[in-house]
Amino acid sequence: MDLTDGPDAEALRYGARLTIDLGAVQENYRRLCTRLTDTACAAVVKADGYGLGAAKIGPALAHAGARDFFVALPCEGLALREALAGLDPPPRIFVLSGFEAGLGPDFDAADMIPVLNSLGQIATWRDHAVAGGAALPAALHIDSGMSRLGLPPAELDLLAEEPNRLDGVAPLMVMSHLACSEEAENPMNREQLALFQVARARLPALPASFANSSGIFLGPEFHFDLARPGVALYGVNPTPGQPNPMVQVVRLQARILQVREIDAPTTVGYGAAFRAAGPTRIATVAAGYADGYFRSLSGRGTAFIGDIAAPVVGRISMDLITLDVTKVPPEKLHPGAAADLIAPGDGLDRLAQEAGTIGYEILTSLGRRYRRVYRSA
Ligand SMILES: *Cc1c(COP(=O)(O)O)cnc(C)c1O
Repeated sequence: MDLTDGPDAEALRYGARLTIDLGAVQENYRRLCTRLTDTACAAVVKADGYGLGAAKIGPALAHAGARDFFVALPCEGLALREALAGLDPPPRIFVLSGFEAGLGPDFDAADMIPVLNSLGQIATWRDHAVAGGAALPAALHIDSGMSRLGLPPAELDLLAEEPNRLDGVAPLMVMSHLACSEEAENPMNREQLALFQVARARLPALPASFANSSGIFLGPEFHFDLARPGVALYGVNPTPGQPNPMVQVVRLQARILQVREIDAPTTVGYGAAFRAAGPTRIATVAAGYADGYFRSLSGRGTAFIGDIAAPVVGRISMDLITLDVTKVPPEKLHPGAAADLIAPGDGLDRLAQEAGTIGYEILTSLGRRYRRVYRSA
């Protein structure tokens, strides 16, 4: 596969091509839906659709049937509302960070729904509703063990004792978030489930939302009324240690700029961190840590030329990666040929493992200077 074949001179302006398969995102949404009975499936598109472009991902998911979207921040909700303009009915956009005084005009303009995380946020949202003269919808977030966002136990007690704190608020659902859902056997999952059920029973009867991507795979008792998957939509395995039930969404191909033969004792790259022990063929490709290919992959990452593994040797630079392509037939190696940095198949989870991180961080670190190519179903 060649990145600069044919009339496509555009490719030469870029070092690497990031292909984002919107049809695969839609397929993943449908696969998650089939695991849910009587449970609606939202789509979490925070952090610009986990780095893949919420303006493209959002409409694709709406097309596949998603009616509820979650973002982390108001700025993301504003941009998403624009991207989803014209849909009938308009999808709901929930903002996980909640509401603060001063954000009223934004929430009104983009018709955003806050996830209220504290009694303070409930009061501020209620003030905004009173000022507008009508009750306003919101989601209530209960902390069941993350100790991060959501009403802590003492605030839940107060809310249960004084339900009029919700006057002026039209709560649509109560939600909570799992800490260990990717570990199916972790007892924390059931502990959180029990706490969530107790909390729910103390509040007005409301639909509930609990499961993230991995939570969907913990079983129906974790599903409630609305699931909130994110990372599985983008192809990351929500069931680590088991075969990936999702299809791959991203492929990252970097262009070979130069190929050379070296022999001992020549070194490669900054710090002379790699020293050839014998005849070695090195390909230099046009991507680096500025593109989100972590420097920690120096001497550890694996690229692929076709299906032949090409280990990263030497340090990752800002714009360049050096690969040991000694095992690759020379006719496959020339300027313009492509090396897969995220290969089809298990490329994303493999890269995350080599980098000592999770697929979430690989995706959300993907750089801005790739040539991004979106494929539709
Ligand atoms: C990010 C997030 C999700 C989605 O989690 P995934 O593990 O990506 O499926 C769901 N709910 C909340 C509250 C989140 O912050």
